[in-house]
Amino acid sequence: MKLHPVLVLDRTYTPVSIFSHKKAFILDLLNKCEVLQYYKSIKLSSPTMDYPAPLVIRIPVLLRHWQSPTPTRRAVFIRDNFTCAYCGKIVKDNNATIDHVLPKSRGGTWSWTNLVTCCNECNQKKGNRLPEEAGMPLLYKPKRPSSFQIALNRWRNKINREFLEALSLYGIIVDKKKLPEGSR
Ligand SMILES: [Zn+2]
Repeated sequence: MKLHPVLVLDRTYTPVSIFSHKKAFILDLLNKCEVLQYYKSIKLSSPTMDYPAPLVIRIPVLLRHWQSPTPTRRAVFIRDNFTCAYCGKIVKDNNATIDHVLPKSRGGTWSWTNLVTCCNECNQKKGNRLPEEAGMPLLYKPKRPSSFQIALNRWRNKINREFLEALSLYGIIVDKKKLPEGSR
């Protein structure tokens, strides 16, 4: 089954996440969310009827509950849109490595601001050095993303025009070619 993205707003109408329509549908059934808008372009069908897919839902929580946790490898890749921080190449899963900007051996930590996506070649070239020591300046400064930015990058390829319009209605402007604000 194809999953469609649903924009999730918190109690204050701030975008906090993106769920699949399936998850939104279940929350709606359980009365755990309010559906504010349905897709016009997407209809779901059951054996007995067709019904519209939810597009925007509101859940009764506050933004502060939704900060991005300690990064996983995968979350760093998603934050950086699988782009090497040194050469700008798009890395595939099997060629994607994580680089500690300040090397681990020199006290660098596993944290959003010290980790970047790196291709195999650049990682080997940089070795145990700082970017400036290696003559490999960072193309972007790694930042701690919001959980919403992570969600947006994760769903990037499934976003249609109607979803983009809903995002802009709630103040999120996405250029599909560029990364979301603050993610790099
Ligand atoms: Zn590279």
